[in-house]
Amino acid sequence: MRVFENVPLSLYTTFRLGGPARYLIECYTVDDVRDAIKFALERNLPILPLGAGSDVLFSDKGFNGVVIRLMNLRGYKFVDNYAYIMAGEPLPKIANLTADMGLSGFEYLVGVPGTVGGGIAKNAGAHGHEMAEILEEVYVVSKEGEILTKPKGYKHKVQGIRFAEVWDSG
Ligand SMILES: Cc1cc2nc3c(=O)[nH]c(=O)nc-3n(C[C@H](O)[C@H](O)[C@H](O)COP(=O)(O)OP(=O)(O)OC[C@H]3O[C@@H](n4cnc5c(N)ncnc54)[C@H](O)[C@@H]3O)c2cc1C
Repeated sequence: MRVFENVPLSLYTTFRLGGPARYLIECYTVDDVRDAIKFALERNLPILPLGAGSDVLFSDKGFNGVVIRLMNLRGYKFVDNYAYIMAGEPLPKIANLTADMGLSGFEYLVGVPGTVGGGIAKNAGAHGHEMAEILEEVYVVSKEGEILTKPKGYKHKVQGIRFAEVWDSG
């Protein structure tokens, strides 16, 4: 993992907006995610997971906490006609890949410019379909560092705000 201090969030969002994050941690493995969470908890700072940054608008004041960037959490495998995909994989890439494998369900996400993790968090959708329809299981890292399994049809709590979430932590 790589830890950065006072980095402009404008570098990490589609709309190129936002002041500095107190810390931004790039994660490459699940263990990095555990360590990043621990880093934030030890400093009593709020955590903000970030994918491709295609659905967040940060304030010019920035974010006084730890941004855990998950775009580099990559990898996938196919087992018995199911795709197991890490959170940082781009949705368009996985849509193309699953189509090539003859698997259906992901094709309508080909034009959504986010990551798989961001897509789950926002329940991304298009053409009358939503991400929750195709999720069999979701694995999340808890604050205690455990891997929790969320069931079929899982909808993450931030999905109510559909496009462009605004972060202004002062
Ligand atoms: C041009 C354009 C077109 C778009 N078209 C569509 C569309 O057709 N349909 C649609 O649904 N959306 C669309 N969007 C919105 C956006 O692409 C989706 O919401 C996408 O799923 C966001 O993914 P992301 O990785 O960019 O998330 P981010 O913008 O990085 O984060 C969004 C939210 O998800 C949380 N989050 C991100 N990754 C994780 C993770 N791994 N674990 C936990 N929480 C996480 C963040 O904390 C934040 O609350 C569009 C956006 C743009 C700019």
